[in-house]
Amino acid sequence: MVEKSDGFVLNGTKIFTTNAAYADYFIVLAQDDPDAAPGKGMTTILVEKDPASWLSGSLEINEIPHKMGIRTTSSGELVFHELKVPKKNIVGERGKGLNTVLGFLDESRIEIAAQALGNAEGAFLKALNHARERRQFQKPIIDFQAIGHRLGRLWSQLMSVKYLTYFAAWMCDQKNEKDLAILPLFTSMVKHHVPETAKKIIDETITVFGGYGYFLEQDVERRYRDNRIVEMYEGTVEVQLNNMVRILKKLNMDFIDSSLL
Ligand SMILES: Cc1cc2nc3c(=O)[nH]c(=O)nc-3n(C[C@H](O)[C@H](O)[C@H](O)COP(=O)(O)OP(=O)(O)OC[C@H]3O[C@@H](n4cnc5c(N)ncnc54)[C@H](O)[C@@H]3O)c2cc1C
Repeated sequence: MVEKSDGFVLNGTKIFTTNAAYADYFIVLAQDDPDAAPGKGMTTILVEKDPASWLSGSLEINEIPHKMGIRTTSSGELVFHELKVPKKNIVGERGKGLNTVLGFLDESRIEIAAQALGNAEGAFLKALNHARERRQFQKPIIDFQAIGHRLGRLWSQLMSVKYLTYFAAWMCDQKNEKDLAILPLFTSMVKHHVPETAKKIIDETITVFGGYGYFLEQDVERRYRDNRIVEMYEGTVEVQLNNMVRILKKLNMDFIDSSLL
Protein backbone atom coordinates (compact mmCIF):
# COMPACT_ATOMS: atom_id res chain seq x y z
CA MET A 1 0.00 0.00 0.00
CA VAL A 2 1.51 3.30 -1.10
CA GLU A 3 0.31 6.75 -0.04
CA LYS A 4 -0.41 9.33 -2.75
CA SER A 5 -1.68 12.89 -2.36
CA ASP A 6 -5.33 11.89 -2.78
CA GLY A 7 -5.44 8.22 -1.71
CA PHE A 8 -3.71 4.88 -1.17
CA VAL A 9 -2.62 2.55 -3.98
CA LEU A 10 -2.93 -1.20 -3.46
CA ASN A 11 -1.07 -3.89 -5.40
CA GLY A 12 -0.96 -7.64 -4.82
CA THR A 13 -3.13 -10.73 -4.46
CA LYS A 14 -5.22 -12.02 -1.55
CA ILE A 15 -5.71 -15.73 -2.15
CA PHE A 16 -8.56 -17.59 -0.37
CA THR A 17 -11.30 -15.10 0.35
CA THR A 18 -14.64 -16.60 1.34
CA ASN A 19 -17.56 -15.40 -0.78
CA ALA A 20 -15.31 -12.87 -2.55
CA ALA A 21 -17.50 -12.99 -5.66
CA TYR A 22 -20.57 -11.95 -3.65
CA ALA A 23 -19.13 -9.35 -1.26
CA ASP A 24 -19.69 -5.64 -1.83
CA TYR A 25 -17.07 -4.55 0.71
CA PHE A 26 -13.60 -5.90 1.58
CA ILE A 27 -11.52 -4.99 4.64
CA VAL A 28 -7.94 -5.39 3.41
CA LEU A 29 -4.97 -5.77 5.77
CA ALA A 30 -2.16 -4.15 3.79
CA GLN A 31 1.56 -3.62 4.42
CA ASP A 32 1.79 0.14 4.87
CA ASP A 33 5.38 0.53 6.04
CA PRO A 34 7.67 -1.73 3.94
CA ASP A 35 10.56 -1.32 6.39
CA ALA A 36 8.61 -2.35 9.50
CA ALA A 37 9.32 -5.61 11.37
CA PRO A 38 7.07 -8.60 10.53
CA GLY A 39 3.49 -7.97 11.72
CA LYS A 40 4.15 -4.24 12.22
CA GLY A 41 3.34 -1.26 10.02
CA MET A 42 0.15 -2.78 8.61
CA THR A 43 -3.09 -0.90 8.03
CA THR A 44 -6.67 -2.04 7.47
CA ILE A 45 -8.39 -0.30 4.60
CA LEU A 46 -11.86 -0.58 3.07
CA VAL A 47 -12.18 -1.51 -0.60
CA GLU A 48 -15.60 -1.41 -2.20
CA LYS A 49 -16.47 -3.64 -5.12
CA ASP A 50 -18.21 -0.74 -6.85
CA PRO A 51 -15.67 0.77 -9.32
CA ALA A 52 -17.33 4.17 -8.85
CA SER A 53 -15.68 4.27 -5.41
CA TRP A 54 -12.13 3.85 -6.84
CA LEU A 55 -9.89 6.74 -7.87
CA SER A 56 -7.97 4.62 -10.42
CA GLY A 57 -6.74 1.07 -11.12
CA SER A 58 -8.79 -2.12 -11.00
CA LEU A 59 -9.80 -5.08 -8.86
CA GLU A 60 -9.97 -8.59 -10.32
CA ILE A 61 -11.99 -11.29 -8.51
CA ASN A 62 -11.34 -14.90 -9.51
CA GLU A 63 -13.25 -17.96 -8.32
CA ILE A 64 -11.15 -20.81 -6.84
CA PRO A 65 -13.21 -23.97 -7.52
CA HIS A 66 -13.23 -27.62 -6.32
CA LYS A 67 -13.08 -27.45 -2.52
CA MET A 68 -13.05 -30.47 -0.19
CA GLY A 69 -15.93 -29.10 1.92
CA ILE A 70 -18.09 -26.05 2.79
CA ARG A 71 -19.30 -26.19 -0.79
CA THR A 72 -22.21 -23.89 -0.06
CA THR A 73 -19.65 -21.08 0.18
CA SER A 74 -17.66 -19.72 -2.72
CA SER A 75 -13.91 -19.11 -2.49
CA GLY A 76 -12.08 -16.52 -4.48
CA GLU A 77 -8.94 -14.48 -4.84
CA LEU A 78 -8.67 -10.71 -5.07
CA VAL A 79 -6.05 -9.18 -7.35
CA PHE A 80 -5.35 -5.49 -6.83
CA HIS A 81 -3.96 -3.74 -9.91
CA GLU A 82 -2.71 -0.26 -8.95
CA LEU A 83 -6.05 0.17 -7.20
CA LYS A 84 -6.31 3.63 -5.67
CA VAL A 85 -8.92 4.22 -2.95
CA PRO A 86 -9.65 7.44 -0.99
CA LYS A 87 -7.73 8.18 2.21
CA LYS A 88 -10.95 8.17 4.24
CA ASN A 89 -11.19 4.40 3.64
CA ILE A 90 -8.68 3.60 6.39
CA VAL A 91 -10.34 1.48 9.10
CA GLY A 92 -9.01 1.91 12.65
CA GLU A 93 -5.62 3.38 13.45
CA ARG A 94 -3.05 3.58 10.66
CA GLY A 95 -0.11 1.20 11.24
CA LYS A 96 -2.09 -0.82 13.83
CA GLY A 97 -4.01 -2.95 11.33
CA LEU A 98 -2.85 -6.27 12.73
CA ASN A 99 -4.15 -5.31 16.20
CA THR A 100 -7.50 -4.39 14.64
CA VAL A 101 -7.70 -7.80 12.97
CA LEU A 102 -6.54 -9.70 16.06
CA GLY A 103 -9.22 -7.96 18.15
CA PHE A 104 -11.80 -9.22 15.67
CA LEU A 105 -10.30 -12.73 15.69
CA ASP A 106 -10.53 -12.95 19.50
CA GLU A 107 -14.28 -13.10 19.08
CA SER A 108 -14.70 -14.71 15.66
CA ARG A 109 -12.44 -17.69 16.42
CA ILE A 110 -14.97 -18.78 19.05
CA GLU A 111 -17.70 -18.65 16.41
CA ILE A 112 -15.48 -20.69 14.07
CA ALA A 113 -15.01 -23.28 16.85
CA ALA A 114 -18.80 -23.40 17.14
CA GLN A 115 -18.95 -24.49 13.48
CA ALA A 116 -16.93 -27.57 14.44
CA LEU A 117 -19.19 -28.14 17.44
CA GLY A 118 -22.24 -28.10 15.14
CA ASN A 119 -20.56 -30.51 12.72
CA ALA A 120 -19.82 -32.95 15.56
CA GLU A 121 -23.18 -32.60 17.29
CA GLY A 122 -25.12 -33.19 14.09
CA ALA A 123 -23.02 -36.24 13.21
CA PHE A 124 -23.41 -37.64 16.73
CA LEU A 125 -27.21 -37.29 16.75
CA LYS A 126 -27.47 -38.98 13.38
CA ALA A 127 -25.21 -41.82 14.52
CA LEU A 128 -27.17 -42.28 17.77
CA ASN A 129 -30.43 -42.46 15.87
CA HIS A 130 -28.94 -44.93 13.39
CA ALA A 131 -27.53 -47.14 16.17
CA ARG A 132 -30.96 -47.34 17.83
CA GLU A 133 -32.77 -48.19 14.60
CA ARG A 134 -30.32 -50.34 12.64
CA ARG A 135 -30.70 -54.02 13.55
CA GLN A 136 -28.13 -56.75 13.01
CA PHE A 137 -28.20 -60.26 14.47
CA GLN A 138 -31.74 -59.62 15.80
CA LYS A 139 -30.88 -56.56 17.86
CA PRO A 140 -30.21 -52.83 17.48
CA ILE A 141 -26.50 -52.23 16.92
CA ILE A 142 -26.41 -49.91 19.98
CA ASP A 143 -26.74 -53.11 22.03
CA PHE A 144 -23.35 -54.31 20.76
CA GLN A 145 -21.02 -53.05 23.44
CA ALA A 146 -18.49 -51.85 20.84
CA ILE A 147 -21.10 -49.48 19.41
CA GLY A 148 -22.85 -48.53 22.67
CA HIS A 149 -19.61 -47.70 24.49
CA ARG A 150 -18.37 -45.80 21.46
CA LEU A 151 -21.49 -43.62 21.58
CA GLY A 152 -21.06 -43.12 25.34
CA ARG A 153 -17.52 -41.86 24.83
CA LEU A 154 -18.57 -39.66 21.92
CA TRP A 155 -21.28 -38.08 24.09
CA SER A 156 -18.66 -37.24 26.76
CA GLN A 157 -16.29 -35.77 24.18
CA LEU A 158 -19.10 -33.80 22.57
CA MET A 159 -20.30 -32.30 25.86
CA SER A 160 -16.73 -31.38 26.85
CA VAL A 161 -16.19 -29.33 23.67
CA LYS A 162 -19.72 -27.92 23.78
CA TYR A 163 -19.35 -26.38 27.23
CA LEU A 164 -15.77 -25.34 26.56
CA THR A 165 -17.01 -23.36 23.55
CA TYR A 166 -19.85 -21.83 25.57
CA PHE A 167 -17.40 -20.91 28.33
CA ALA A 168 -15.10 -19.10 25.87
CA ALA A 169 -18.12 -17.24 24.46
CA TRP A 170 -19.23 -16.29 27.98
CA MET A 171 -15.73 -14.99 28.75
CA CYS A 172 -15.75 -12.93 25.57
CA ASP A 173 -19.05 -11.37 26.66
CA GLN A 174 -17.75 -10.31 30.09
CA LYS A 175 -15.91 -7.30 28.65
CA ASN A 176 -13.94 -6.65 31.82
CA GLU A 177 -10.23 -5.95 31.52
CA LYS A 178 -9.07 -9.00 33.47
CA ASP A 179 -11.00 -11.46 31.31
CA LEU A 180 -10.15 -9.70 28.06
CA ALA A 181 -6.42 -9.88 28.85
CA ILE A 182 -6.58 -13.66 29.08
CA LEU A 183 -9.21 -14.14 26.35
CA PRO A 184 -6.76 -15.07 23.51
CA LEU A 185 -5.67 -18.13 25.54
CA PHE A 186 -9.28 -19.32 25.50
CA THR A 187 -10.11 -18.38 21.92
CA SER A 188 -7.01 -20.18 20.64
CA MET A 189 -7.86 -23.13 22.89
CA VAL A 190 -11.32 -23.63 21.39
CA LYS A 191 -10.13 -22.74 17.88
CA HIS A 192 -7.69 -25.69 17.88
CA HIS A 193 -9.25 -28.13 20.36
CA VAL A 194 -12.89 -28.12 19.20
CA PRO A 195 -12.23 -28.89 15.49
CA GLU A 196 -9.55 -31.45 16.36
CA THR A 197 -11.95 -33.23 18.74
CA ALA A 198 -14.84 -32.84 16.29
CA LYS A 199 -12.74 -34.52 13.59
CA LYS A 200 -12.31 -37.58 15.84
CA ILE A 201 -15.99 -37.60 16.83
CA ILE A 202 -17.20 -37.41 13.22
CA ASP A 203 -14.76 -40.12 12.15
CA GLU A 204 -16.19 -42.41 14.85
CA THR A 205 -19.76 -41.68 13.74
CA ILE A 206 -18.80 -42.93 10.28
CA THR A 207 -17.79 -46.20 11.97
CA VAL A 208 -21.22 -46.40 13.66
CA PHE A 209 -22.88 -46.07 10.24
CA GLY A 210 -20.78 -48.88 8.75
CA GLY A 211 -20.81 -48.83 4.95
CA TYR A 212 -23.69 -46.35 4.89
CA GLY A 213 -21.45 -43.73 6.51
CA TYR A 214 -19.30 -43.65 3.40
CA PHE A 215 -22.20 -42.49 1.25
CA LEU A 216 -23.36 -38.92 0.84
CA GLU A 217 -26.97 -39.41 1.92
CA GLN A 218 -26.12 -39.92 5.62
CA ASP A 219 -24.53 -36.47 5.82
CA VAL A 220 -21.72 -37.63 8.13
CA GLU A 221 -19.05 -37.67 5.41
CA ARG A 222 -20.05 -34.10 4.50
CA ARG A 223 -19.58 -33.06 8.11
CA TYR A 224 -16.12 -34.67 8.06
CA ARG A 225 -15.18 -32.62 4.97
CA ASP A 226 -16.82 -29.43 6.24
CA ASN A 227 -15.06 -29.76 9.58
CA ARG A 228 -11.56 -29.95 8.10
CA ILE A 229 -11.49 -26.27 7.17
CA VAL A 230 -12.19 -25.23 10.77
CA GLU A 231 -8.65 -26.37 11.63
CA MET A 232 -7.32 -23.99 8.97
CA TYR A 233 -9.11 -20.71 8.44
CA GLU A 234 -8.85 -17.78 10.83
CA GLY A 235 -5.50 -19.20 11.92
CA THR A 236 -4.38 -22.81 11.67
CA VAL A 237 -4.14 -25.21 14.62
CA GLU A 238 -0.38 -24.63 14.67
CA VAL A 239 -0.81 -20.86 14.83
CA GLN A 240 -3.29 -21.22 17.73
CA LEU A 241 -0.81 -23.38 19.63
CA ASN A 242 1.97 -20.83 19.00
CA ASN A 243 -0.35 -18.18 20.39
CA MET A 244 -1.14 -20.24 23.48
CA VAL A 245 2.52 -20.99 24.20
CA ARG A 246 3.33 -17.28 23.95
CA ILE A 247 0.68 -16.54 26.62
CA LEU A 248 1.42 -19.58 28.81
CA LYS A 249 5.07 -18.58 29.03
CA LYS A 250 4.05 -15.32 30.72
CA LEU A 251 0.84 -16.39 32.48
CA ASN A 252 0.57 -15.08 36.02
CA MET A 253 0.39 -18.18 38.22
CA ASP A 254 -2.28 -16.48 40.39
CA PHE A 255 -4.61 -16.99 37.47
CA ILE A 256 -4.54 -20.75 38.06
CA ASP A 257 -6.28 -20.17 41.44
CA SER A 258 -8.72 -17.62 40.12
CA SER A 259 -12.46 -18.16 40.01
CA LEU A 260 -12.23 -18.65 36.26
CA LEU A 261 -10.63 -22.08 36.61
C1 LIG B 1 -11.73 -22.50 2.02
C2 LIG B 1 -10.90 -21.39 2.59
C3 LIG B 1 -11.49 -20.17 2.90
C4 LIG B 1 -10.71 -19.12 3.41
N1 LIG B 1 -11.31 -17.92 3.65
C5 LIG B 1 -10.55 -16.88 4.04
C6 LIG B 1 -11.11 -15.57 4.19
O1 LIG B 1 -12.30 -15.34 3.96
N2 LIG B 1 -10.31 -14.56 4.58
C7 LIG B 1 -8.99 -14.75 4.84
O2 LIG B 1 -8.29 -13.79 5.19
N3 LIG B 1 -8.43 -15.97 4.70
C8 LIG B 1 -9.17 -17.03 4.31
N4 LIG B 1 -8.59 -18.27 4.15
C9 LIG B 1 -7.15 -18.40 4.35
C10 LIG B 1 -6.76 -19.23 5.57
O3 LIG B 1 -6.93 -18.48 6.75
C11 LIG B 1 -5.31 -19.69 5.36
O4 LIG B 1 -5.31 -20.62 4.30
C12 LIG B 1 -4.71 -20.30 6.60
O5 LIG B 1 -4.58 -19.33 7.62
C13 LIG B 1 -3.35 -20.92 6.35
O6 LIG B 1 -2.51 -20.05 5.64
P1 LIG B 1 -1.78 -20.58 4.32
O7 LIG B 1 -2.80 -21.25 3.47
O8 LIG B 1 -1.01 -19.45 3.76
O9 LIG B 1 -0.81 -21.72 4.86
P2 LIG B 1 0.75 -21.58 5.27
O10 LIG B 1 0.96 -20.33 6.08
O11 LIG B 1 1.58 -21.79 4.05
O12 LIG B 1 0.88 -22.82 6.23
C14 LIG B 1 1.17 -24.16 5.77
C15 LIG B 1 1.39 -25.03 7.00
O13 LIG B 1 2.50 -24.50 7.77
C16 LIG B 1 2.07 -24.21 9.09
N5 LIG B 1 2.69 -22.98 9.58
C17 LIG B 1 2.77 -21.77 8.94
N6 LIG B 1 3.36 -20.87 9.73
C18 LIG B 1 3.64 -21.50 10.91
C19 LIG B 1 4.25 -21.10 12.13
N7 LIG B 1 4.67 -19.84 12.33
N8 LIG B 1 4.36 -22.01 13.12
C20 LIG B 1 3.92 -23.30 12.94
N9 LIG B 1 3.35 -23.74 11.80
C21 LIG B 1 3.21 -22.85 10.81
C22 LIG B 1 0.55 -24.03 9.00
O14 LIG B 1 -0.09 -24.27 10.25
C23 LIG B 1 0.18 -25.04 7.93
O15 LIG B 1 0.03 -26.31 8.52
C24 LIG B 1 -9.34 -19.33 3.65
C25 LIG B 1 -8.77 -20.57 3.36
C26 LIG B 1 -9.51 -21.59 2.84
C27 LIG B 1 -8.84 -22.91 2.53
